[in-house]
Amino acid sequence: MTGNGNLQRLNTRLASARPSATYAIIDRVAQRRAEGAKIISLCAGEPDFDTPAPIREAARQAIDQGHTRYTQVAGSRALREAVAAKFREENGLPVEWQDTLVCSGGKQVIYNALAATLNEGDEVIVPAPFWVSYPEMVQLCGARSVIVTCDARSGFKLTAQALAEAITPRTRWLILNSPCNPTGAVYSGEELQALAEVLLANPDVLVLADDIYEHLIFDNQRFHTLAQVEPRLAGRTLTMNGVSKAYAMTGWRIGFATGPRWLLEAMEKLQGQQTSGACSVSQQAALAALQGPKDFLHTSRAVFQRRRNLMVDALAATPGLHCEPPAGAFYAFANCAGLIGKTSPGGRYLGTDEDVALALLDEADVAVVHGSAFGLGPYLRIAYALDDDSLASACAAIARFCRAVIPQA
Ligand code: PLP
Repeated sequence: MTGNGNLQRLNTRLASARPSATYAIIDRVAQRRAEGAKIISLCAGEPDFDTPAPIREAARQAIDQGHTRYTQVAGSRALREAVAAKFREENGLPVEWQDTLVCSGGKQVIYNALAATLNEGDEVIVPAPFWVSYPEMVQLCGARSVIVTCDARSGFKLTAQALAEAITPRTRWLILNSPCNPTGAVYSGEELQALAEVLLANPDVLVLADDIYEHLIFDNQRFHTLAQVEPRLAGRTLTMNGVSKAYAMTGWRIGFATGPRWLLEAMEKLQGQQTSGACSVSQQAALAALQGPKDFLHTSRAVFQRRRNLMVDALAATPGLHCEPPAGAFYAFANCAGLIGKTSPGGRYLGTDEDVALALLDEADVAVVHGSAFGLGPYLRIAYALDDDSLASACAAIARFCRAVIPQA
């Protein structure tokens, strides 16, 4: 129990970290389900598919073949070779295995990078809406997030001008996430090039390219990453990726990165005192994923694109909500300004997007996360990592709720 008395026993940075705003909803979902409610949760941050069978089989074989011991801290040589090949072939980056690092999930890549470089007073530019973990990790590392709001007018994307205005002598990192959680926004090559021009003029700024949703990109768009678009930035860009979202492997906890060797070595040093490296069996599974057939990537992209269309069409017919089609990932980011200031069917005042999310949960049995948890309200993040029938039922329940809030529409 963390009574107030015990708070002072904690590390001060941890004690002042905010519990994730998404937990309030997730806890409430668990509570309502325990009470017997049938909730459709559109909060998930993971694909609903099973890990493909050949990858599962590779893990079984890994156990039988004795891949059960510590690997090298930076990852097994075989996996690092495969990661380097992935960066060369899929991203056009000139990477050798020594330019890679394997961690326990993409999340640990990011944490290690920040922890290895940040000092008190440093600043990290985080475009909003953002993945909730970025500012929390920055704060745990003793630094300060400089949140740059990127609203719908820029497609929720950072512009060169906004970046230039946010950079100060204390800026250590810029975090770029494309496709983006929570908006699904995808940066084009030209947009990245415009940001690159600003970065070239600011040689002390490092860049973290969070490419974890790389393969979930729709409408035949091409994926671009900063170090490929502007090779002159490769020496200070950490390009992060992993198997979690691409291969439905969230639980295996394998992420990886390429970047300048001084940074990778520092991150490896840190990892050597934390985990001693990622799970050996999971590394073999990730190896099978990277070296195996790529048909799963195509199938999963097609399924998510179909669900995206289903979701966007349903939201377009729902009063009070507005959502541009997201270009990637598996989230719709719907503006809910039309519901704010109104009253829910159950008689609750909807003053904020969090009020809307909580009323939807309690009165329509559908769980979504409020946009302000990701740094921009009033929005709802609606994850469509769920089967079509459940999605259709959830959309119908959301529409009923909204029509009751705005009956004249
Ligand atoms: N980056 C973003 C934007 C994410 O949404 C997530 C997971 O939700 C991660 C990184 C972390 O991925 P992993 O599961 O590999 O740690």
